[in-house]
This record gives sequence, C-alpha cells and structure tokens, in this order.
Amino acid sequence: MTDLLRCKAVIFDFDGTLADSMPFLEMIGVQIFMKYYGVTKEDAIQRYRSTTGLPYEHQIEMNFPNNGKNKDATEEFEHLKIERIFEQELFPETEKALKELESKKIDVFVSSSTFQPTIIKYFEKRGLSHHFKEILGYRPGFEKGADHFNHISDEHQISMKDVVFVGDSLKDFERSQGFCRFIGITGIFSQEDYRNKGHSGCVVNSIGEVPRHLEAV
Ligand SMILES: [Mg+2]
Repeated sequence: MTDLLRCKAVIFDFDGTLADSMPFLEMIGVQIFMKYYGVTKEDAIQRYRSTTGLPYEHQIEMNFPNNGKNKDATEEFEHLKIERIFEQELFPETEKALKELESKKIDVFVSSSTFQPTIIKYFEKRGLSHHFKEILGYRPGFEKGADHFNHISDEHQISMKDVVFVGDSLKDFERSQGFCRFIGITGIFSQEDYRNKGHSGCVVNSIGEVPRHLEAV
C-alpha cells in the first residue's frame, strides 16, 4: 500500500534527510555535552536525540537552561561542524530523488537548522543548487518550521496545504503540525517513534522512497 500525497512543493530537512551527516553531528554534539556539562555518554546521547532537529544552540539551552557555559559550548560545536560538514556525503539516493521530483514538476525547497551560508555552499560545491527553488537555513529568529514555512508560502505563493515536509526527526514532525503534511524518514527514529508522537501519515526508510509517494497537484 502506497500513500500518495498530491502537492505542488516538497520541503526537505537537510541533516539526516538529504545528507548523511547525523552520525558526525551526533558525535560532536555528544562530545560537547560531555566536555562542558560533565554528563555521561549515555545521558549525552539521550539528551542529544531528544532535541535533535533543533539548532544546536537550542539543544543546549533546552538541556542546560541558563548555564554560563552555553555560549562557549555552542561556539565550539559550530567550529567543529564547519571544519568537516562539507565532507559529509549526501545519501546515495538523494540526487536521483531530486531528479525524479523535477520530472514530476514538484518544486523542491530545503529548510534546515544548519546555517544558511553553509548549506548553500554545500550544494554549490556539488553542483546541485539548481534542484532547489530556495534553500533556507538557520539564523536566530528565522528557523526551520513556522518561519521558513511562512516565508515559502509568502514569497513563492504556495499554499501550505499543497506542501509536504520531509524530515528525519520527531521535532520535524512537531514543526509541520498546523502547517503541512509530513513524511518521516527512519534512522534516528523508528516508525513506532513517529506513531507514538502522533504521526499517522507516511513513514519511509530512505530518501529514495519519497518520490513514489508524491504526485503533482
Ligand atoms: Mg534532520
């Protein structure tokens, strides 16, 4: 049985959805939690995963509210991330999926918690920028979710009822609620995790499965 979602545009999360960057990001994110806050590795992993999908500075603030070390910890994470993010590969099926969506005449956007110049450069380096109508990254006050969705709706005159958001985290699902339909990708989270969170819609195992669930309106 295939859920078929009719839409005009699809918005992809970046880390863990288009790019296979989560093992790297989790590794440095957990390292920072252990180094700055003295938590065990198991505790750090649990704290990282329960907030993944958010900008790292928010992950820190949610786990260690008002801690004086938060600014330094965030800076070190972002420094470690920028050093190696461009080495992180796309998933093997990502480019094919983008081409399939192009042939289906479905517009493609990126909405990410990674800084915008970083993602733009990432796709430029790989010669893939042309696949995207717009790439939206994080800056304080302009986040994945409501800010990005409202921007896409206003700037591109696309109703959110004609949009599907694809992400790999429970936070991504939360952020789609009240805006648009959602496809969850398994990896960090299982189908059961999405169901427990209240997502009754489409869940896939990889980016390569996404196009077959989408058809242009
Ligand atoms: Mg993600």
